[in-house]
Amino acid sequence: MAKSRKKSPPPLNFKGNWDYAPAPESTEPVQLKDHYELFIDNKFVPATSGNAFPSINPATEKTLATVSEANSKDVNRAVRAARKAYESVWSKTKPAERGKYLFRIARLIQERSRELAILESMDGGKPIRESRDIDLPLVAAHFFYYAGWADKLDYAFPGKTTVPLGVAAQVIPWNFPLLMAAWKIAPALATGNTVVLKPAETTSLSVLKLAEIIQDADLPPGVVNLVTGAGETGDALVRHKEIDKVAFTGSTEVGKNIRKALAGTDKRFTLELGGKAANVIFEDAPIDQAVEGVINGIFFNQGHVCCAGSRLLLQESIADLFLRKLKDRMETLIVGDPLDKNTDIGAINSKAQLKTIQKYIRIGEKEGASLHQSSCSLPGKGYWCQPTLFLDVAQSHRVATEEIFGPVLSVLTFRTVDEAIQMANNVPYGLSGGVWTDKGSKIFRVGKKLRAGVVWANTFNKFDPTSPFGGYKESGMGREGGLHGLLPYVDLKTTGGSSR
Ligand code: NAP
Ligand code: MG
Repeated sequence: MAKSRKKSPPPLNFKGNWDYAPAPESTEPVQLKDHYELFIDNKFVPATSGNAFPSINPATEKTLATVSEANSKDVNRAVRAARKAYESVWSKTKPAERGKYLFRIARLIQERSRELAILESMDGGKPIRESRDIDLPLVAAHFFYYAGWADKLDYAFPGKTTVPLGVAAQVIPWNFPLLMAAWKIAPALATGNTVVLKPAETTSLSVLKLAEIIQDADLPPGVVNLVTGAGETGDALVRHKEIDKVAFTGSTEVGKNIRKALAGTDKRFTLELGGKAANVIFEDAPIDQAVEGVINGIFFNQGHVCCAGSRLLLQESIADLFLRKLKDRMETLIVGDPLDKNTDIGAINSKAQLKTIQKYIRIGEKEGASLHQSSCSLPGKGYWCQPTLFLDVAQSHRVATEEIFGPVLSVLTFRTVDEAIQMANNVPYGLSGGVWTDKGSKIFRVGKKLRAGVVWANTFNKFDPTSPFGGYKESGMGREGGLHGLLPYVDLKTTGGSSR
């Protein structure tokens, strides 16, 4: 029998039976071709090698379509197209006109948002509730936001004018394919650059649909180009001699390699890399809200979130109560079909990522942490992981310091504010953090001392296109989003020369 979500919350130690009637989203709005080609000069064109790879639905393991694999010759073609478009058209297009194109893209995304959300869930495994209610609205909002900047750049940095860089090489990961494409493409175009973008191998399809939207928006040929493929394609793109800027979002390991490859060149770059965020809960926090925040922070999108709250730092005095409530709430999480509107945790993006998560679960157990997993059953086919907690974790454990990128939460306890700050900062990463307390003064005191690009207070994982986002330490360099997100795409000129 279906049960209403509005029922009062279960008592402590509630052990499940949250059965909902299935409410699957139809796949009918998504029309897929059998094969997708590269997108260069506003046309879909075959890859030089003729090679292709499958794009798989991680919930069913079925191939959705095949996708062309770009080699260095194709990357070359795409960069040339972007260069030609920059020099002959886009750098000469009036700012207000650039804005109009971006507004048009934003509106077309809104019109096709249902289709795009379903495809994002089919190809990537994330629950439809997230792709529909979080990803797609934010994708459109990013295009709207930067559309607004296009003709106001003279007011963005007082006393300075902006000069576009040229061709931007952009490489994105698989956890938010369309959103990462929007974060990259919208500010680049608004500031007058052209782009060549490579989506991740496992999630190219929604970005290829965005290419259709770009065609429909009549963007001049060559302004946006997509090269699909694996790591080698990305490598050829970021090392290409004729690009002016690299914008990379992905793992710290690849980010470091890119930085090495760019050393000694005059290419600009931004790197948005991994994270191991701490969600710090003080004893005066609103406990039930904090439990929801922790659940949202790590189990949202299967933990495939660079800024996931993957470490829970609990003040010792509330640890028992908090963990009891957290475990009870974990029991109610529904793991399964990403297209079912009841689903909280969808499919792990790929077999390889599932193996990585399972490897870390074994590592945590070997290191002596205690494993707790919700008792939910997992579907037979596809790649799945139940919500997982590690208790009795020490700061030196690998599960407390390394990014797992799955629904796995490591719990540590602290006694004093200073100890919480020390523990939160005691990792190589610094992308995000959370502070939960009733006291505003504590929020400011702790928030200021956390070495993280984003700190949420009494909430977690909230995004807005007007807000800059980026990391400290091994979480990367540069900021995307907001006014700050314009800077990586421009030179700032004062009278008499350029000052970067
Ligand atoms: P990844 O392996 O680094 O891949 C990211 C992108 O780079 C993919 O398109 C990938 O292609 C490509 N790539 C792989 N090797 C490359 C190389 N040598 N040169 C150039 N490009 C290369 O990361 P991932 O596993 O896809 O994504 C998860 C990681 O991204 C996590 O560490 C996460 O924290 C991070 N992330 C960070 C942010 C942020 O804003 N800070 C946001 C989202 C994700 P293939 O997919 O085809 O291999
Ligand atoms: Mg896929």
